[in-house]
Formats: sequence, C-alpha cells, structure tokens
Amino acid sequence: RFLTFEGLDGSGKTTQAELLARWLRERGLRVLLTREPGGGIPEVRGLLLKGVLSPEAEYLLFSADRAEHVRRVIRPALEEGAFVLSDRYLDSSLAYQGFGLGLPLPWLLQVAEGATGGLRPHLTVLLDLPPEEALRRKGVRDGIEGRDLSFFARVREGYLELARREPERFLVLDARKDKEEVQAAIRSAIMALWPE
Ligand code: C5P
Ligand code: MG
Repeated sequence: RFLTFEGLDGSGKTTQAELLARWLRERGLRVLLTREPGGGIPEVRGLLLKGVLSPEAEYLLFSADRAEHVRRVIRPALEEGAFVLSDRYLDSSLAYQGFGLGLPLPWLLQVAEGATGGLRPHLTVLLDLPPEEALRRKGVRDGIEGRDLSFFARVREGYLELARREPERFLVLDARKDKEEVQAAIRSAIMALWPE
C-alpha cells in the first residue's frame, strides 16, 4: 500500500504524513515514512533546491532520485508488507516541472515510466492551497522555493487538473482547514479503502 502526499510548499504534507504514520503504527501496522527530493539519492537534494539547473536537467535529476527511491526504498518496503507514505512523488514533478516550468507532460510521463517502473500510488492526498496562502506560509525563500506567484498558481492548477484526470486515486482536501480536521478526512479515506 503506497500513499503519497502532494501540494504546494506550506500545505502541511509533512505534518499530515507524520500524523498518519503515528496512527497507522498505533494500529500495529508497519510504516515507512519517506520523502522527495532526496529519498533515493540524498546528495542531490541540496543541488535541486538551489534551483540553478535548466528545467530538463532539473526534471532528470528528480527522476534519477526517484528511480533510486523506488528501487532501494519504496519497493523493498512494499514487498515486506509495509505501508509506504511518501511526502511528494511523481505528481510533484508533473505539477512543478510540467505545469509550472512548462515541460511537456508526454515526455515527463515517458521518462517516469522508466524511472519508476510504472509504480503508481494507491492513494494520493492532495492538500490544496491557494498560491497566495502558500507564499504567505513559507515566507521569503530563495532557489527552487523562491519561484513567483504565477509559477505556484500554475502548479496548483496543475495538481487540480491531475486530480480531475484520476479522481479515484486522488483525495483532494482543503489545506486551510485545521490539521485535525484534515487528518480525520485522511483516516476515513484509508478506513474506507482498507477496512481492517
Ligand atoms: O516538499 P519539500 O519542502 O521537501 O520540497 C522542497 C522544494 O522543492 C519545494 O520548495 C518544492 O517547491 C520544490 N520541488 C520542485 N519540484 C518537485 C518537488 C519539489 O520544485 N518535483
Ligand atoms: Mg518545503
């Protein structure tokens, strides 16, 4: 069971993933909590965050990280029967490098197929946040995190478009609601999917 958390910076992905991991562990389940970028090749996280690469190189480096992440971290844990929770995955690249930077989705998907071996999440929690609110929450940032409002507006719309294309995979929640309310909605979705 592979779950991913997506959304703009400041939408609460990390918090929600941690709360969910704790709850699943309390229920006796094995949980692997992981994240991108850096989940596969920790050394590339710093370089990616600098935001100095061309869009194509940026995407390929995210993909290299993801290829390692899938092969060395995610798949082995899934094979051992763990619940894998990832703070960002492929949808981040489709939203940021695709809708945000304008790289063509067919190319992104083709590379992703090779990089991930076609591994798709069973459930993706999209914490939806208006871009103005995301910028306000994270304050002034530089590098890859310092892109402008119109960039984050495209990313947000991109995420919503991805969710419209695969409504059965996505759970879209309003990230402005309080964190307990958001967490409760995630838990109910999981209990509905896997009632055990
Ligand atoms: O979620 P996290 O804070 O770890 O992400 C680090 C930064 O990388 C974020 O600012 C996000 O905007 C950016 N990012 C990106 N493209 C991705 C994944 C993350 O630009 N595919
Ligand atoms: Mg961040």
